[in-house]
Amino acid sequence: MDKINLVLSSGNQHKIKEIKKILSDLPFNVLSKNEIGLEDFEVIEDKDTLEGNAMKKAKEISEKVNDIVIADDTGLFVDKLDGKPGVYSARYAGEDATYQDNNKKLLEELKDVPVEERTAKFKTVIAIVQKDKLEKNVVGECSGKIGFEARGENGFGYDPLFIVDGYGKTFAELGEETKNRISHRANALKNLKKELKKLIGEY
Ligand code: IMP
Repeated sequence: MDKINLVLSSGNQHKIKEIKKILSDLPFNVLSKNEIGLEDFEVIEDKDTLEGNAMKKAKEISEKVNDIVIADDTGLFVDKLDGKPGVYSARYAGEDATYQDNNKKLLEELKDVPVEERTAKFKTVIAIVQKDKLEKNVVGECSGKIGFEARGENGFGYDPLFIVDGYGKTFAELGEETKNRISHRANALKNLKKELKKLIGEY
């Protein structure tokens, strides 16, 4: 079977590597947007849901190619904060916030909140789009609690604060290999794979 091109809306090398690895046993030729000459093409993430942003990113790229396009959006949803930072996770502490700024703000917001009320989840949405043929979102989640201080050296973003249910450790303590097996993104990618397998049947 000829390989089918699958374009990622991301230029993030970390994500590209993870997706290529998980799809390596399927007949897809995974290409980043940079590899198809769209490195300067930026989509403004101005929707108020992960679903909306992921779909917007995938659709705008799919206007430019005939291949299947996938785009993802992730957020951390903290119950006690009514789901914040949610879709605004990247810029929780402000437009140019660093991961450290965001983590500091989250700890401050939860300063007086007891352990049993610090429940949270990460959610990843992946949109799959092929112009005039297909528009679908798949989802992956991972539940946990927000710790009282940063722990661990691995990962990025909120990883040092997110204590994964059933593990008693933060993503930053668990490390990449375990995280990539159990994370919200890993779960979304498993669901993506199921959808792509269905698609192959149609080719
Ligand atoms: P993005 O949609 O993947 O760009 O993620 C948006 C923001 O969510 C990032 O800037 C991080 O702050 C946070 N984030 C996304 N994925 C993770 C993760 O796996 N661990 C920790 N933080 C994450």
